[in-house]
Amino acid sequence: MAVARATKGILLVAFLAAFSALSIATTLTRISRQHAVAPEAWAALERKELDLAASLFRQELQQRPRDAALHFGAATAAYALGQTGSALSSLKKAVELDPEFADALAMLGQVAYERGDSGLAIRSVEKASALRPRDGALKERLDHWRRESTVHDSYLEKPAGHFRILYEGSTQQSIGDRVARVLEREYSSVGRMLNSYPSETVTVILYTNREFQDITRSPSWATGKYDGRIRIAVGGALRPDDLDRVVTHELVHAIVASAAPRRVPTWLNEGLATYLESSDRSWVPETLRRARAVVPLDDLANGFSGLDEEQALVAYAESAVAAEILCTKLGRHIGGFLHIVGNGTSVDEALLAFQVQPDAFHAEWRRRVGFR
Ligand SMILES: [Zn+2]
Repeated sequence: MAVARATKGILLVAFLAAFSALSIATTLTRISRQHAVAPEAWAALERKELDLAASLFRQELQQRPRDAALHFGAATAAYALGQTGSALSSLKKAVELDPEFADALAMLGQVAYERGDSGLAIRSVEKASALRPRDGALKERLDHWRRESTVHDSYLEKPAGHFRILYEGSTQQSIGDRVARVLEREYSSVGRMLNSYPSETVTVILYTNREFQDITRSPSWATGKYDGRIRIAVGGALRPDDLDRVVTHELVHAIVASAAPRRVPTWLNEGLATYLESSDRSWVPETLRRARAVVPLDDLANGFSGLDEEQALVAYAESAVAAEILCTKLGRHIGGFLHIVGNGTSVDEALLAFQVQPDAFHAEWRRRVGFR
């Protein structure tokens, strides 16, 4: 998710961790208890030993290819590993084998939505909700997606290279053109730097401010968000430079997600987006100098959503400093570093894999941000 710092010349962005959108744990417990087959695979999944779980489900499916619950288990492991394409095909198989498998339908809806297929998402959750009429969370998700879909249906669509841009009417034509130019330029430059490119067309939606808040439920200061789609509020008095920065910031999130879909600490994700969004970073030292409190990076690993606007600004500045140091120390290995962090390696271990001493990174960060 992203925030504008129009008044201070800054843009803030927070990132929605896709995994939190699903309350998978309780579902898994229920299904694995009902399902006597492959207990080791379910147990591995619950212990979050994802590679092991994925391989055990694969083995078991060779014996029982028509077991819908096993396809659901395989999908859950794949999803947690960030392999949403594989999760999607396993879920399609599960609901083909068992059309009344509500958990699989609900998850199919979520994965399809995250991959930008709102049509399949809505159809799947409609079926799940019909099977579980008392599930309020499902109903709410369905209502939200339907509202969003109605708004998007009224928008114009502009195909633009690696992107599909949706925007309202002719008044935003010039903004749409500008966004398309920035996206294509930064796609190459950020993609090259992080050595990763989104494998599919990225949907970019330009909202009026009111619709942006309504659809993303973002804090009032937010102007951008990435949640599988890039969403940007363009209706306010966003200056062209700020618009370019918001667009670039969200695009960095899309590219980080393609390199490392899961397990990237928020400070690293936001740090890269904030560091790469613009070459003007004069606000960073200024913000840190004025900050009443600087918090450790570990406290910024799981989202910035609990922070107020002032704390969030400091968090973005701290993260940007960390990203700058990492980019300098790792050079062309920053993409490889990101990739292994996404595979579950800790930041410190990943640094060692590229012969960078974690202590040196942390000491320089503490000095630069004034952490005592
Ligand atoms: Zn961000």
